[in-house]
Amino acid sequence: MGKLIKEDDEKGRLHIETRLLGESLVSKDCLRSTEAGEYFHMQPEVNVLKIGGQSIMDRGAKALLPILDELVKAKEEHKILLMTGGGTRARHVYNIGVDLGMPTGVLSKLGDKVSWQNAEMLSVLLAKHGGVKIGHGDHLEQLNMYCQLGYLPITTGIPPYGFFEHPAEVGSIPPHRTDSGAFLLAENIGAKSVIYLKDEKGLYEDDPKKAKDRETLKFYDKLHVDELIEMDLDDLIVERAVLTFLKNAKTLKQFQIIDVLRNPEDVHAALNGEHVGTIIYK
Ligand code: ADP
Ligand code: MG
Repeated sequence: MGKLIKEDDEKGRLHIETRLLGESLVSKDCLRSTEAGEYFHMQPEVNVLKIGGQSIMDRGAKALLPILDELVKAKEEHKILLMTGGGTRARHVYNIGVDLGMPTGVLSKLGDKVSWQNAEMLSVLLAKHGGVKIGHGDHLEQLNMYCQLGYLPITTGIPPYGFFEHPAEVGSIPPHRTDSGAFLLAENIGAKSVIYLKDEKGLYEDDPKKAKDRETLKFYDKLHVDELIEMDLDDLIVERAVLTFLKNAKTLKQFQIIDVLRNPEDVHAALNGEHVGTIIYK
């Protein structure tokens, strides 16, 4: 904490001694000293569920409605923040932007509206069950209250980088999209869990949709994040950035990917902490 060390003789100014005074906040030694023994969890009972844009919502009513039925049931037992993916419309606008040679931050600005559209759509569909679209501002401190009152808060998964998006390591597509946004938000509110609701049961050695024979593909039901980073797979079921986020996470210890397309009811097991898909842990 800051300590009052002296009052300026003539002008009566106050001086506060703080251990970060004069530090660049770059030194590794200095940064190590800021590691907390235990990090504060603002929303320890809230589960962050990201519903896929391409993997689920773009499939329309047949895929989506049975999943929403399960979520409406689940919110009676669990506190849930629902976050939305982008999907095909985001991919289309990225493609036009790529064709025009737009930098990553411009593509990020172009794509972020789609996840909002999906949040809007879910809040309309769930309105009569207490679905309520919230922003990324003060509402996040009020999540527990919303859930206690029986609401199902819904927000966009896209993180607000926009023109501040990091340049991509490869190519120009914004590396931090809605899987990243869901993880970052869950991490910083100290959520109970982060669960990705997708159309595959989890991580394979390659994209099962592109494989000649998915039966022969190796499936990973549980994997340490360091191992997964080390494997450097060509394709993944979650955005690559999420792996580094988990590695450096202060409050989250794992995330799970589940297949709600084939098994919408798996959401209950995952919310109960059961292992039904792929768990990546640290
Ligand atoms: P979302 O819309 O939920 O963000 P995406 O379509 O962006 O989902 O990503 C999920 C898709 O990733 C899966 O449907 C699958 O086809 C693909 N995929 C790519 N690589 C893998 C992998 N190694 N294991 C499993 N799925 C993968
Ligand atoms: Mg995706």
